[in-house]
Amino acid sequence: MIEIRGLYKKYGKNEVLKGVDLAIEEKKIVAVLGPNGSGKTTFIKSILGMVLPSKGDIIMEGKSIKKEWKYRNNIDYLPQIANFPNNLTVKELINMIKDLRQKKSADDGALVELFKLEPFLNKKLGNLSGGTKQKVNILLTFMFDSPIIILDEPTSGLDPISLIRLKELIDTEKKKGKTIIITSHIMNFVEEVADEIVFLLEGKIYFKGSISELKEKTNQPDFEHAIASILTQSYA
Ligand code: ADP
Repeated sequence: MIEIRGLYKKYGKNEVLKGVDLAIEEKKIVAVLGPNGSGKTTFIKSILGMVLPSKGDIIMEGKSIKKEWKYRNNIDYLPQIANFPNNLTVKELINMIKDLRQKKSADDGALVELFKLEPFLNKKLGNLSGGTKQKVNILLTFMFDSPIIILDEPTSGLDPISLIRLKELIDTEKKKGKTIIITSHIMNFVEEVADEIVFLLEGKIYFKGSISELKEKTNQPDFEHAIASILTQSYA
């Protein structure tokens, strides 16, 4: 379980997170949603130790992550923007990441096959399309078989077939008992994969629960309208 206690983050005068308390249960898929600038990336990066909270604590398997780093070996992270070195080939990058993580990788051959990346293995990253880069990004994330997976906008740039493959992959990982945290602007995708929604608004958790609970709370017939109704209220 990941426990977030009183998480608070300020950048200068900008209060981004204003006391977020959340327990993320094991083996669940949780979607972190909210309008642009609501602090989703800041929240995720706090869990990863890439952002230092101004106040509060994050407890991973009963231990605070403050001044810890080993726990990060248990997390596979897909960043929103992957800045790959343009001069490396896909194969070279895969090998470099394996060396860097010094962790036994799962079957990356199966991932190459799943996303049909074979023809690109010897191509330079700088010459790949955005969608192919995202498939490489996904491969590098799912290659290590860690118990926690954090995906920041995983669908970005994917063609319909790759999107189906990604959903299959997430489903397989869930069945293996992984805990998965996702941010996405694509409501259909969230609806298909998430067990629970956490909606951030003005630095706090506005809603936490299932999609059907959200529809009930907002009195809306479908998920998209439920989210839209929160956003229109907050912009009003
Ligand atoms: P989201 O992922 O929901 O779009 P972010 O966490 O990226 O939100 O950003 C929340 C707010 O924090 C924004 O106003 C953004 O400008 C600000 N912010 C994010 N990172 C930094 C940073 N490193 N320095 C200063 N401000 C930041």
